[in-house]
Amino acid sequence: MNFITTPEEKKKHITDWWPAIKKWPEEEIAARLPQAIAAPETVREVQDAVKYAYDRDWAVVPFGGASGVLGGIVPEKPALSIDMQKLTGVVEFDVDNHLVTAYAGMFCLELENYLNERGFTLGHYPQSIELATLGGLVATKSSGTFSSKYGNIENMVQCVELVLPGGEIFTNRNVPRSAAGPHIPALFIGSEGTFGIITKVTLKVWKLPERREFRGIEFDSMEDAILTAREFYRRDIVPAVVRIYNPAEARGHYAKINRRSGKVLMIAGIVGAETVTPELLKQVLLTSEKRGGFDLGAEIGNNWEQHRYNADWLEEGNAKDTTVADAIEVSGNWTVLPKMYEVVSKRLEGKVDELWAHCSHCYPSGANIYFIIFASGKDKAGTLQKYNEIWKIIMEGALESGGSGAHHHGIGRQRLPWFREEIGAASYEILRGIKKAVDPKNVFNPGLLGLE
Ligand SMILES: Cc1cc2nc3c(=O)[nH]c(=O)nc-3n(C[C@H](O)[C@H](O)[C@H](O)COP(=O)(O)OP(=O)(O)OC[C@H]3O[C@@H](n4cnc5c(N)ncnc54)[C@H](O)[C@@H]3O)c2cc1C
Repeated sequence: MNFITTPEEKKKHITDWWPAIKKWPEEEIAARLPQAIAAPETVREVQDAVKYAYDRDWAVVPFGGASGVLGGIVPEKPALSIDMQKLTGVVEFDVDNHLVTAYAGMFCLELENYLNERGFTLGHYPQSIELATLGGLVATKSSGTFSSKYGNIENMVQCVELVLPGGEIFTNRNVPRSAAGPHIPALFIGSEGTFGIITKVTLKVWKLPERREFRGIEFDSMEDAILTAREFYRRDIVPAVVRIYNPAEARGHYAKINRRSGKVLMIAGIVGAETVTPELLKQVLLTSEKRGGFDLGAEIGNNWEQHRYNADWLEEGNAKDTTVADAIEVSGNWTVLPKMYEVVSKRLEGKVDELWAHCSHCYPSGANIYFIIFASGKDKAGTLQKYNEIWKIIMEGALESGGSGAHHHGIGRQRLPWFREEIGAASYEILRGIKKAVDPKNVFNPGLLGLE
C-alpha cells in the first residue's frame, strides 16, 4: 500500500467544509497536518494501515469525502489519515430482501445512481450527496432531504463492518431487527471515527416511487407553518419532504418564479404510489389552507427539487478572509420550535449580516431548525471570533429552549464545547467507558466526542 506524504495532500486531508479552518493562520494548519496518508484498496489494507499507525503510536483519522462541516478530520496529535475513497463499489445487491451492501468509500450519489438504474433508491439525499461517502454519512449520523419518508441514516443501516483499533473486524448479523440486548452497531452510527473505521455497510433500499409531486405553500408566520407540519402528523398525511423557510431564505425561492413576497415558504414533496400521491397532496393543501397556507403551485416546488444540491451560498459566503457563512442545525419538539426560533433570531440581531432559517426534517414529536448565518469581521481573526460568538448564541439558545444543539452534522471540533451538556454526565461517562474498552490506547480520532 502506498503512503502519501506530500504537503498538498496532507493539507487537503485536514481541510473539510468547516468554515473555521479557512480562517486559521498557516502555522496552525501546519501543526495539524498528518504524518502520512494511507489509501487502502481492500479491507486487509485498512487493517494493515491501522496496525502501522498503532505500532508508531500515531492516531488514526478516517477520511471519507471531506464534506464534513465541523472539522472532524483535523487531527490533534501525530496521525495517519486513512483515505477511504479507493475502498469503493457495490459488494452485493440483494434485490429479494431490499438490501444493498457497499464499501464505505463509495460516494452516496454513485450508490444512488447504481440503485436507480435497477429501479430502486436508498432514499438518502443529503445536500452533499455528491461529496459524502457512505462511511462518512454513517459516522456523522446524517440526514437526507426526504427523511420524513425514508428516515435518517440510522433507519437505513442494517449491518456495519468496521476495523476496530486492535485490527480485528466487527460485523453484525444480517437481520431486519433483533431483540438480543442493546444494538451494538448503533454505537458506531455517529461515532465520528472514534471507535474504529467503517469499511462496509448494508443498507435497506426502496423501490423508486411511481409519482412525485412538489408544491410551494405560502404562510404568514413560521409558527403557522410549523403547526401545519405538526397537523400533517395528526392527520397521518406526512409528506416525504417538508421544508419551512423564513422570509429571508424564502426570497431566493420566490425569485425563481418571479414572485415578490415577504412571507414564509413551505415546500412539500410527496412521493409514492400512483394511487395514493394525488390524494395525499390534496389533503396536504387542504390542511395548510386551515392555517392560511396559500398554494403557489408546482413550479416553485419543482424548482427546489431540481436545484436541491446547490450550495453556492456556502462557498460564496466563505470565499473571503473577512466573511463567513454556515448552516447550524438544531432541533426541538413542536412546542419548543417557535420559541427557539424567536429566541435565537433575536439574540443574533446585530451579530449577523443576514440570517436565513429553515426546518427540513420533521418527526411525530418535532423538527429541526437550520440557522444559516452570514457574518463578517475586520480580518481573519476577527471573523473567526465573530463566528465563534454566533455558534455560542445558537448552541445556548437551542439548549436553553429545551432543544438539541445537534441535528445531523455531528459534533466534530466545532461543537465539542456543548457535547457533554447535551448528552448529560451519565451518558458521557458510559461513552468514556466504552471508548476505554474498545480503544484503550486512544488511537482512533482522539479528542473527538470529548474522548481522551
Ligand atoms: C454543501 C454541503 C451540504 C451538506 N448537506 C448535508 C445534509 O443534507 N445532511 C447531512 O447529514 N450532512 C450534510 N452535510 C455534511 C456532510 O456532508 C456530512 O457530515 C457527511 O456525512 C460527511 O461525510 P464524508 O464522507 O464527507 O466524511 P468526512 O468529512 O471525510 O468525515 C466526517 C467524519 O466522519 C469520520 N469518518 C469518515 N469516514 C469514516 C469511516 N469510513 N469510518 C469511520 N469514520 C469515518 C471522519 O473521521 C470525520 O470525523 C453537508 C455538507 C456540505 C459541504
